[in-house]
Amino acid sequence: MNITVIGTGYVGLVSGICYAELGHRVVCVDKDRAKVETLQNGGIPIYEPGLQELSVKNSAAGRLRYTVDLREAVEQSEIVIIAVGTPSLPNGEANLSYIDQAAIEIAQAMNGHKIIAVKSTVPVGTNERVGNLIRSRTTERFDSISLPEFLREGSAVQDTMHPDRIVIGADSESAAELLVQLHRPLTEHIVVTDIRSAEMLKYASNAFLATKISFINEIANICEKVGADVTLVAEGMGYDKRIGHAFLKAGIGYGGSCFPKDTRALIQIAGHVDYEFKLLRAVVEVNQDQRMSVIRKLESIFDGELQGKTIAVWGLAFKPNTDDVRESPALEIIQYLIRSGAHVKAYDPIAMRNFRSIYGDNGVMWCDDALEAATGADALCLLTEWDEFVHADLKLLQSILRKPILIDGRNAFKEADLAETSFVYYSIGRPRLN
Ligand code: NAD
Repeated sequence: MNITVIGTGYVGLVSGICYAELGHRVVCVDKDRAKVETLQNGGIPIYEPGLQELSVKNSAAGRLRYTVDLREAVEQSEIVIIAVGTPSLPNGEANLSYIDQAAIEIAQAMNGHKIIAVKSTVPVGTNERVGNLIRSRTTERFDSISLPEFLREGSAVQDTMHPDRIVIGADSESAAELLVQLHRPLTEHIVVTDIRSAEMLKYASNAFLATKISFINEIANICEKVGADVTLVAEGMGYDKRIGHAFLKAGIGYGGSCFPKDTRALIQIAGHVDYEFKLLRAVVEVNQDQRMSVIRKLESIFDGELQGKTIAVWGLAFKPNTDDVRESPALEIIQYLIRSGAHVKAYDPIAMRNFRSIYGDNGVMWCDDALEAATGADALCLLTEWDEFVHADLKLLQSILRKPILIDGRNAFKEADLAETSFVYYSIGRPRLN
C-alpha cells in the first residue's frame, strides 16, 4: 500500500518506519525541516532503540522516504495517517490546532479517494471534526478512521511490530477492511469499533494505567507509615490474574507526553458532557503530590533546610530508554530544589540535552557522568531507573558522596544491593535502611 504519515515524532516516525518494514511504500512528512534533513541523512531525531537501523534499511530498499512536502506525499497515497502532537492547553483540553492544520493541508492536496486515519490521541468527535474540515474544502471522497496508538517510548519498535492489540474505529466497512489487512501481520487482536468508541478507548486505556500507578503510590505512602513494604504487597497482589503485575510499581509518579495530558484531557471530555470524573481527578492529584515525596524525604533528613545543600540528581527522562522529558517529575523536583537554595548536580545518559534545551539551565550544574554528579553531594536522588544507575558500584558511590544518603525515587535498588554499604537509604513505600 502507499501510505503517508504526517508527523515524525515518537509515534509517526516509528509507525511509518514499521509500515515500511512490513513492505509498504511510506512517505513520512514533517514540517520541521531540520528533523526531515536529519532523517534524510540517515539520522534519527529521537532516541528510540532499534529505530535508526530500520530507517536506514527501509530507505535503502526504496520503501521509505522523508519530506516536508505534504502535498506531494498525499497525492501519491491511498492511506494518510495523521500523527501530529495533541499537547495540553492551559485548561487541560487537548490542543487540536496541529490536527486542524494537518486536515486543512490534506484537503488541499486531495486528488482522489483516500483513507484518512487519525493516530494522534484525540477527544471524542475529533475524527468528525477532521472530516468536516476536509469536506468543506474538497469534493474528493474519503473515509475516516480512528487508529489510536498504544506504543511505549523506549520499546516503541517492539510495541509497534508486536502490539497487544490494534484498534480500528471506522464507519465504512471497506475502509475498516483495508486497515485490518494492513495490520493483520502484526497481531490477531484487531478490535474494530465505531469511531467514537475507538477515540474513547485510547483515553480510557491511559486513564486506567494512570489509575493503577496512583493507586499503588497511595498504598506505598500508607506502607511507609505502617511499616510495610509496597514491593512485596504489589508482588503478592499482581499474581491475582484479575489484577496483574503491570503498572503496580510505586515511585515518584507517572510523567511523559501521554499520561499527564491524556488524564487531564479525559477530565475535560467528561466535563463537557456534564460528568465529573471524580476518580480520575484524584488520580491526577495523587500523581502531582507523589513527585514531592522525594522532597519531603530530603526535608526531613535536613530538618527542613535545603539551602546550601548539594543534591545530586540521577535521571531527567520521565522513564529509562527515552530522551523524552515532557512532564518528567525531574523538572518539578529540580525546580523546587533550586528555589529552596540547594545546589543541584544533575546527570542523565541520554536526556540531558533535551532537558536543557526545553527547560533551560536554571542554575543546575550539568555533569558529564553519574559519578561526577554524585561527587561531594550531601544526598543523591535517583529519579529515572536507567540501567547504568541501577548497576552502579554502590561502594564507590558511597565513598564519593559527602554523606551516604540515597533517595531512590523508583525503588530501583534491592535491600541486598545495599547490604555491604552504610547508605542511609530511602525509597518509596519501603522501610528506610540504616
Ligand atoms: P511529537 O510532538 O513527538 O511529534 C509530532 C510531530 O508532528 C512533530 O515532529 C511536528 O513537527 C509534526 N507536525 C505537527 N504539525 C504538522 C503538520 N501540519 N505537518 C507535518 N508535521 C507536523 O508527538 P508524539 O509524541 O509522536 O505524539 C503524537 C500523537 O500520538 C499525540 O497525540 C500523542 O498523544 C499520541 N501518542 C503518543 C505516544 C508517545 O509515547 N509519544 C504514544 C501513543 C500515542
